[in-house]
Amino acid sequence: MNFKKCLRCGCFFSSVDDICPNCAPKDMFEMSKLKTFLTSQVDDASVSEISKGTGIEEANINRFMSNKDFLKEVKKEKNNIDINL
Ligand SMILES: [Zn+2]
Repeated sequence: MNFKKCLRCGCFFSSVDDICPNCAPKDMFEMSKLKTFLTSQVDDASVSEISKGTGIEEANINRFMSNKDFLKEVKKEKNNIDINL
């Protein structure tokens, strides 16, 4: 196990994750919120537009957007919606 600094609150904790256990639920919540926002978005929105639309801090949006697994999930969801239309 590594000693890590939480990317959200800056506290030190021992885990393989980048987010401490206190912040993990907030991260999960914002990720699902961002996913919903992105899948319902037809055109690409800028980070500041996304931040305004979701209330999520830009730094966190950038962090979620650099997560390949997250982007894959958004893409998958978007494809599902297209098929259902
Ligand atoms: Zn934290």
